[in-house]
Amino acid sequence: MNDNEKKGFTTTILHSDRLLKPEHGALHQPIHTAVTWGFEDVQGLVNVFQNKAKGYAYSRQGNPTVTALEHKVTQMEQGIATIAFSTGMAAITATIMALIKSGDHIIASSYLFGNTRSILQTFTDIGLDISYVDATSVENIKEVYTDKTKMVLVETIANPATQVADLIAIGDFCEDKKLLFVVDNTMTSPYLFRPVTVKASFVINSLTKYIGGHANALGGSVTDTGLFDWANYPNIAQILRDSIKPQMVGITQIRKRGLRDGGGTLAPEAAHNISVGSETLALRLERACSNAAALAAFLEQHPLVSKVYYPGLKDHPQHELASQLFHRYGGLMSFALVDGVDLFAFLNRLQLVIKSSNLGDTRTLAIPVAHTIFFELGAERRAEMGIPDSMIRLSVGIEDQEDLIGDFRRALEASAI
Ligand SMILES: *Cc1c(COP(=O)(O)O)cnc(C)c1O
Repeated sequence: MNDNEKKGFTTTILHSDRLLKPEHGALHQPIHTAVTWGFEDVQGLVNVFQNKAKGYAYSRQGNPTVTALEHKVTQMEQGIATIAFSTGMAAITATIMALIKSGDHIIASSYLFGNTRSILQTFTDIGLDISYVDATSVENIKEVYTDKTKMVLVETIANPATQVADLIAIGDFCEDKKLLFVVDNTMTSPYLFRPVTVKASFVINSLTKYIGGHANALGGSVTDTGLFDWANYPNIAQILRDSIKPQMVGITQIRKRGLRDGGGTLAPEAAHNISVGSETLALRLERACSNAAALAAFLEQHPLVSKVYYPGLKDHPQHELASQLFHRYGGLMSFALVDGVDLFAFLNRLQLVIKSSNLGDTRTLAIPVAHTIFFELGAERRAEMGIPDSMIRLSVGIEDQEDLIGDFRRALEASAI
């Protein structure tokens, strides 16, 4: 298996650790708990510091267990390099911190994950200029673009209302204007979609979600697709330009300023858990997508349900684009109950489905949106964003389909008004 680039998605992940040749023929990369690394010859240490040799000096900025996971994510995303972080939020924060300067302008989707939206507000408070637009049409991005714009940040499928960003057109626009195009691929994962195909510069993944998959470790990553031309990008340190291949200056600056200085390092034990979880990403997602499609069809025809938000449904506003771009429509969906149904009583009647805020777990999780993840926004912003008070977000898991639909059927029957 030397030409493992040509193997399928799951085969590649399964054999990735082994091909890095860990000791004793181990099939997993070991969990290296060492914080620091010793050198026989001081020149070796110096070379690592001066970017002249690959190696490990201090585990905050690199650890072999974490490297093995980074290598897997790079292969999954078909990029050139990945940096893993302690969480998805750390990956997003580091990417922006490392590449954007005060005076720069960022265009972001107005349907971003709540905590991403919140960290962007913090960046605004310390001097960045950020515009929020409905990213389901590239026209909205063109409208706010200025000669200060450096980055466009979108997600593939938005949470909770499942809007799909105008990814192809935005990628073309970013290429044309030489903008960093950052795509948060968490909701689709590299199994359903590879942002490199729409010319993304960087791909963010919350490894906590589908890639890890079992809700037993937090992690995040940023992958460089290799498509961005750094030659005229102003915010790169000269010392990197002098010592690193031109294609690698962006990701190296994220490793230094974002990871090393920011300190959001992934622990090796967590990297191991995520790495093992990632072996079954394709199997889990196939099953979750099948369950989600069946559940969406069931809920859509139910008299107590007023609306279902799922890109797999024909009446979803971006159904065609989603069909074109994504292998399947994902495991995330939302629905709203008709007026008069007691939302909390309904949720409490669910016996299998867990009331929980995570997503991408093997188990199906439900959360009332307006009261939790979108509570801080206030009623007015929620109304603007089209989030009804009775909206429930579901992260559909891999349970047996009859059990899952049965749980909803029973809870809805008992909630009839
Ligand atoms: C969960 C999530 C994040 C943040 O990831 P953490 O690992 O929880 O920090 C970022 N983006 C999206 C789309 C997410 O769903």
